Amino acid sequence: MQFAPLNTWLPSPSQPLVIAGPCGAESLEQVLTTAKQLRELNKIALFRAGVWKPRTRPNAFEGKGEEALKWLQEVKKQFGLKTTVEVANAHHTELALKYGIDVLWIGARTTVNPFSIQEIADVLKGVDIPVMVKNPIHADLQLWIGGIERVYNSGINKIAAVHRGFHYYGKTKYRNKPMWQIPIELRTQFPDLPIICDPSHISGNTELIYSVGQKALDLGMNGLMIESHCDPKNALSDAQQQLTPQQLDELIGKFILRKQNTEDAFVLDKLAQLRSMIDEIDDELINVLKKRTQVISEIGSYKKEHHIKIFQLERWQEILRTRAQWADKLGLSRNHIEKICQLLHEESIKIQNELMNKG
Ligand code: PEP
Ligand code: MN
Repeated sequence: MQFAPLNTWLPSPSQPLVIAGPCGAESLEQVLTTAKQLRELNKIALFRAGVWKPRTRPNAFEGKGEEALKWLQEVKKQFGLKTTVEVANAHHTELALKYGIDVLWIGARTTVNPFSIQEIADVLKGVDIPVMVKNPIHADLQLWIGGIERVYNSGINKIAAVHRGFHYYGKTKYRNKPMWQIPIELRTQFPDLPIICDPSHISGNTELIYSVGQKALDLGMNGLMIESHCDPKNALSDAQQQLTPQQLDELIGKFILRKQNTEDAFVLDKLAQLRSMIDEIDDELINVLKKRTQVISEIGSYKKEHHIKIFQLERWQEILRTRAQWADKLGLSRNHIEKICQLLHEESIKIQNELMNKG
């Protein structure tokens, strides 16, 4: 796949690129008031508003549908802002096209369903409109890529991926856990695919938006989609995470834009030095791993000879406990060390298993 650069279809009046607007279009007044305030900031590349809202339980605010598309036409006419809405099926897509919406986005609940994405893609065959594809609710990169491919195969190359975090069953401070390694893997596989981060849906509250947004920018994401409402307290959906246009303005002012690289010879030299240190350390690490593997083979052979089972729960618990203590002493993250121990243990079991079943 080859994607169009973001600035060819979404020029931004300022940096970072920001897409903003309310979670949902609730009334003509709410849409126009919010759009007017956002327009005055002169920093917004695209005005977003959901007109069909996927809600967990029925009878919550489900969006105003076709009527609200007319309000977005007004936004464009009165304030010259480009508009984007979420489409979840063929009918939504046809209507959004009919009302001249500039960019479409596919929501997290739709990306999980290849049938839905395909019916949207079928409507888009031969249509020149940019599409943003949010990640699926759960952490499945293939499904995200599959959604992007379906849109791409309908002839569209103006595509952006939107990272909005993932449902997580364990404890987390986020509404949707960012799992940064997933968008990083997407970037690695498709370096020219623009990625926009949605810190609002990752955070679920207003406090975390800054740190999530800054991290996204530091990781090289191409822009941010942030929910903004003229009266967040009374918003009909996602009230806790929406910022007023004024708060959004302050937030944008706080972001630090770091360069991808530098030409300053001194800085480059220093970086090269540090990187060569990392190369040496990694070389040492791999040699140490080799030693560990040799000892594991010895243990495996010994267990085999003496008919001892491979997995020893108490030893494993002891490893986890002591390594966590060692990590604490050195000020290393326990979690990081635990993950490494898990990987080492998995490999150790594999090596011993192979030995046990040989000959
Ligand atoms: C939204 O952007 O308002 C929305 C419903 O997002 P998501 O699909 O990421 O939950
Ligand atoms: Mn929302």
